[in-house]
Amino acid sequence: MIVQQILKSKGGGTVITVSPETTITEVTKILAEKRIGGVIVSKPGDTADGILSERDIVRALSHRGAGILSDTAETLMTRNPVCCERADTADEVLRRMTDGRFRHMPVVEDGKLVGIVTIGDVVKARLSQLSMERDALEGMIAGH
Ligand code: AMP
Repeated sequence: MIVQQILKSKGGGTVITVSPETTITEVTKILAEKRIGGVIVSKPGDTADGILSERDIVRALSHRGAGILSDTAETLMTRNPVCCERADTADEVLRRMTDGRFRHMPVVEDGKLVGIVTIGDVVKARLSQLSMERDALEGMIAGH
């Protein structure tokens, strides 16, 4: 299973990006409205310059208080996030997410953003693949 298949199973969809100047208040509204845990920060709109997750916001709130809500996305984002490509395997992406302790990974091609995968997307795709493999094996054993 490769990243391209995961993107396809998600049914396309646009990647939510925000500009570096977006305030944290605006980012929290986007996270809540779109029911997502992170946004990609991009100046031109089609690159992954940074990633800002709910964890970054919670951590900053705990350290510095509600004043951070008027800060901009670029002040809290993680710069140059680890990215993957369409041809990368799901296992490799899962390993990189587990090693790096993050749940989001932008998908890029020639430096341009083409999608995003979350740990939930990868686990869901792997479980569905395992289920199909099990059914196929059961079919073979039963002689169908
Ligand atoms: P997450 O688990 O994705 O909510 O993110 C946990 C922490 O890792 C936050 O500080 C994020 O900014 C950071 N992060 C999320 N995704 C990535 C990534 N692909 N590469 C590097 N850091 C990331």
